[in-house]
Amino acid sequence: MNPIEALNQIKDYIYIHAYKITALVVVTKNHSHEIIQILYDAGHSDFGENKIQEAEKKFPLVKITPEKPLIKHHVGPFQTGNAKKTVNLFDWIHGVSSVNGLKSLIEKAKKQYDKNQKKIYYLIQLNLTRESTKTGGMFLEDFEKAIESNTDLFKNFPFLEWKGFMTMGPSSGDLIITRKVFKELKRIQEKYKPNSELSMGMSNDWKIALEEGATILRIGTAITGPR
Ligand SMILES: *Cc1c(COP(=O)(O)O)cnc(C)c1O
Repeated sequence: MNPIEALNQIKDYIYIHAYKITALVVVTKNHSHEIIQILYDAGHSDFGENKIQEAEKKFPLVKITPEKPLIKHHVGPFQTGNAKKTVNLFDWIHGVSSVNGLKSLIEKAKKQYDKNQKKIYYLIQLNLTRESTKTGGMFLEDFEKAIESNTDLFKNFPFLEWKGFMTMGPSSGDLIITRKVFKELKRIQEKYKPNSELSMGMSNDWKIALEEGATILRIGTAITGPR
């Protein structure tokens, strides 16, 4: 199936089931800029990448019209050392996973805004499977401590807005555990930031994510083909 058809099938499914979502992020990592161009030309606007160097090369090659901007999502772990480049390249950052990360995001997003008035939107990534931290995410107890003792960091600034939460299912792909994890993220969202965004659901679990309240999907291979 070509990427446009694959994307349209997912959009049709969402429409038929009357889910309300904020964004369907097509994750294009390891694919060339051409796939972004093809989907952009077909009317799609939200794209995700996880590596700074790759995004830096790829995004400028996409020809866009000013009326229809590309909305660029950073979907990997947010790294403090890359904070400046990340806010420069992206509009949404899904993987904020520590208080220090958030502090550097605030600092760099402010500098960025002072230069060109670009506002950044971010999500707090939670690690609810308690697997390795390689894929990013805070443990729930660390998030709870952070929001209690550093409440001010989470407020909205003119240059930066906290939009909600992100998580990933277990690396095993076990769909029963995946559903539990998505349900738990929803419960946390209702407690700490009701009606905010829930970024969950990838190629193998996006239908489950929608059932559990996802508002942002991050889908790669199901649209782009294998990496
Ligand atoms: C690669 C990636 C995706 C998309 O994964 P697929 O299984 O290809 O849909 C989603 N989220 C993150 C954080 C990723 O790194």
